[in-house]
Amino acid sequence: MSQVEVKILESSLETRVNPKKHTFAKDEQIDWVGAIPFMLVHIVGVLAIFTGISWAAVGMCIFMYYARMFAITGSYHRYFSHRTYKTSRFFQFILALWGASSAQQGPLWWAAHHRHHHKFSDEEQDIHSAKLRGLWWSHVGWILCKKYGPTNEEAVKDLTKYPELRWINKNHGIAPFILASAIFFFGVFLQHAAPGLHTNGIQMLCWGFFTSTTILYHGTFCINSLAHLIGRKRFDTGEESKNSLILSIITMGEGWHNNHHRYPYSERQGIYWYEIDMSHYVLRVFSWLGLVWDIKLHPEEIYTEARTGHKEVTA
Ligand SMILES: [Zn+2]
Ligand SMILES: [Zn+2]
Repeated sequence: MSQVEVKILESSLETRVNPKKHTFAKDEQIDWVGAIPFMLVHIVGVLAIFTGISWAAVGMCIFMYYARMFAITGSYHRYFSHRTYKTSRFFQFILALWGASSAQQGPLWWAAHHRHHHKFSDEEQDIHSAKLRGLWWSHVGWILCKKYGPTNEEAVKDLTKYPELRWINKNHGIAPFILASAIFFFGVFLQHAAPGLHTNGIQMLCWGFFTSTTILYHGTFCINSLAHLIGRKRFDTGEESKNSLILSIITMGEGWHNNHHRYPYSERQGIYWYEIDMSHYVLRVFSWLGLVWDIKLHPEEIYTEARTGHKEVTA
């Protein structure tokens, strides 16, 4: 690599990872007291190693990671934020509870923030723009900031009309508490019913809930941070969203973030068969079971644009 090329690479990394364009306001500080539960989840998640390790506990950790990653992508993102498919009021309630079990606040909070991100992607108002506010802030800083704790109900009027969703949004800690308790009692049950698995309640709780939730946090947060920094840009979307296979595997399809920013009305985020999109496959199965319907997909002009690199001009 020539000196000139090294300089260009260095300067592009600098603008990507160390942007100096956003000046943080006084009320955009980390709320360290409010961050205690978030940090405790991490600490218990790491201390899980002292409860011993078993295939059952590690299996539960992986299962709970992907089951709840789907809750974030298939439910909070593709349903509540973008309404890319339809479902019954009952299954909508299940999707909301399932999403809340990920311990990432309630569906209305999540959808309101996400809609804001699409409206102002990588502009000054974008709360977690990696380009303008840096990697740390876009990944986790904004989550720990008191300023962004409330739900902007104006942005989710289509959802606030359901009292059960408002209830889950307000009491979003109940679902993770019930899940953690269920995992604990499942571990107690296995300890007695299948002692050969060498697990117990505490071990299951630590691995299956706390370790899994910690990894789930960072898997999800990668979309706010890394998906606007690394990968390839297929569509000229006017912001920094990228497509990445690795992020898609970690996040069940959310890594096709540039596709998603180009056409957020589609439930599917990969646009070709080789763009692995596990949330889409799960929702397909749900549609065969009659749980969801009217799944929206990409129109032909998006494929034409992907092929040619040109937007179809409509009169
Ligand atoms: Zn984005
Ligand atoms: Zn989105």
